[in-house]
Amino acid sequence: MNRRHLIAAGAVAAFAGIAPAAAQTYPTRPITMIIPFAAGGPTDVVGRIVAEAMSRSLGQSVVIENVAGAGGTTGATRLTQQPPDGYTIMIGHTGTHAASVALYPNLRYNPVTDFAQIGVVNTNAILITAKKALPANNLAEFVTWLKANERTANNAHAGIGSVSHTTCLLLHATLGVKPQSVPYRGTGPAMNDLVAGQVDYLCDQVVNVAPQVRAGTIKAFAVAQATRNAALPDVPTTAEAGLPGYQVVVWNAMLAPKGTPEPIVNRLNAALADAGVRARLAELGADLPADNLATPAGLRAFLEAEIAKWTPVIRAAGVTAGN
Ligand code: ASP
Repeated sequence: MNRRHLIAAGAVAAFAGIAPAAAQTYPTRPITMIIPFAAGGPTDVVGRIVAEAMSRSLGQSVVIENVAGAGGTTGATRLTQQPPDGYTIMIGHTGTHAASVALYPNLRYNPVTDFAQIGVVNTNAILITAKKALPANNLAEFVTWLKANERTANNAHAGIGSVSHTTCLLLHATLGVKPQSVPYRGTGPAMNDLVAGQVDYLCDQVVNVAPQVRAGTIKAFAVAQATRNAALPDVPTTAEAGLPGYQVVVWNAMLAPKGTPEPIVNRLNAALADAGVRARLAELGADLPADNLATPAGLRAFLEAEIAKWTPVIRAAGVTAGN
């Protein structure tokens, strides 16, 4: 063996020895959490709550980085390019890790095999919301208005494949309408424009909707699930409001790059289970996942099921990124 070989062999041995030790002492420096949408929206709100509680539990800061674009797939792609060392994680959702498969023919990742799954963070009810000036005061009036104004009605959303896009897509399929689509980099900015009356309506998650409805800045016609949401108890369900066929629940999940060592995955999962996270999310109207979904294996199986669920729905709607 010459000197170069010796150095190379030494480096491999040192790396092999360091990896498990690093997992044991993890984390020794701040962690970056990618939020694949603009600041101020539902993914950002959930991410910041989770980051704050996780920093306490991990003893290191968890720093948010908003990497918006392409319905959240830009941020998810970014995560797959990071080292699998537990220092970069993300909050993904129904869009980035399920609907994207059917919507993006050139998606640069496999939501199941290119990630280490940490766990489902929460599920979120979807509400049909509109600007205050819209001439409809309940879901039936909104449906009549939308059918009559299909060509000019503006539907704000957070980009192709975002949940605000796909969930309104389902609504449109249910009603047989194809209104104008107005993409944003997140429903934070979309909500600002809804409040300002610059767009007509938005299908958005309860954590983003509840503060605005309580402040009286927008209208919420219905919550698209079987039961009312505790954060907005006066808003009827779609079934109560006459559209029982429209029900959809979306979720957020925590992911790391593929190859992240199991002890680190488990450490992150334990930090995610922090009681403080769960209490704060519940206050905002987010629902907590069933225990079996809050695990790495549970999330992996759930992603497979969600991809299988959303792919035919999106294919039937005939939408892909770019149309
Ligand atoms: N996650 C939201 C959506 O997909 C957007 C956001 O969080 O800003 O519609």
